[in-house]
Amino acid sequence: MSTAAVVPEAPDESVPSGTGLSLRGLSKEFKLGRNRVPALAGVDLDTAEGQFLALLGPSGCGKSTVLRILAGLDSPTSGTALVHGEDPEAARKRHHLGIAFQDAALLPWRSVAANIRLPLEISGIKADPAAISDLIRLVGLEGFEKARPAQLSGGMRQRVAIARSLVVDPKVLLLDEPFGALDDMTRQRLNLELQRIWQARAVTTLLVTHSINEAVLLSDTVAVMSPRPGRIVEVVSIDLPRPRTPEMMRSPEFHAYADQLSELLFGRADSPADAAESAESAAGAS
Ligand code: ADP
Repeated sequence: MSTAAVVPEAPDESVPSGTGLSLRGLSKEFKLGRNRVPALAGVDLDTAEGQFLALLGPSGCGKSTVLRILAGLDSPTSGTALVHGEDPEAARKRHHLGIAFQDAALLPWRSVAANIRLPLEISGIKADPAAISDLIRLVGLEGFEKARPAQLSGGMRQRVAIARSLVVDPKVLLLDEPFGALDDMTRQRLNLELQRIWQARAVTTLLVTHSINEAVLLSDTVAVMSPRPGRIVEVVSIDLPRPRTPEMMRSPEFHAYADQLSELLFGRADSPADAAESAESAAGAS
């Protein structure tokens, strides 16, 4: 695949909205003993193909639930979810989705290359060694092909998880706080790597995060969620040039977006205790 130029710097307005990810009136209730926990209450959201969208909200607002529904791993109580026009479960079965979570969940006895190949093996698809090598290079792990997960740092394990999510050549990448457990410096470095990978693969991406800085750094659009039961409070377009750089994070424009998102998040807090929790969550990676 080629480079940065594949993805336009600003959202392409000729692409109709909703051709990437589309959520309509999405609600979800969980049963907890005899109680019902409303996790989502009418989430509406659209992105165009190839966009990088961040779902930003306080802990427990339903971000992972949205991602799991888009991944076809859970179903909504009501409403609809489409990925590139397809039902999520069908899209997952056709290998149109790549998914990565905070826990890399690698098989400890398998090498880096064998972990990356795993989704293909499970599906009975023959792995092309050259394509696996390309992926290993793309995520910056050349030289570690034969290493076992225990021989890797946390950041390297997440790189393997990202490569594994890309091995099926997905149309859509769903990332649930993939760098959430890493230290700030590693997280920022991997965020920049993720941007490079996203630009190289031109894949529609949803990133679940509670970090304002991460959302501004990476996204074309940021959908801000309310505390539980989650709904979309506002969708903010991030009109900063690409590739985004660490220097940009110190610019007045970056700070203006961060302030806007912070106001949207904290303005919704119901109580001082909620506000304190949201502030703690949103501090996240920087
Ligand atoms: P976030 O990703 O924003 O932290 P989640 O989507 O994980 O939030 O969870 C949203 C709400 O739904 C939380 O209150 C959580 O406790 C509840 N929840 C999530 N999964 C389940 C489940 N399987 N059973 C019961 N409640 C759940």
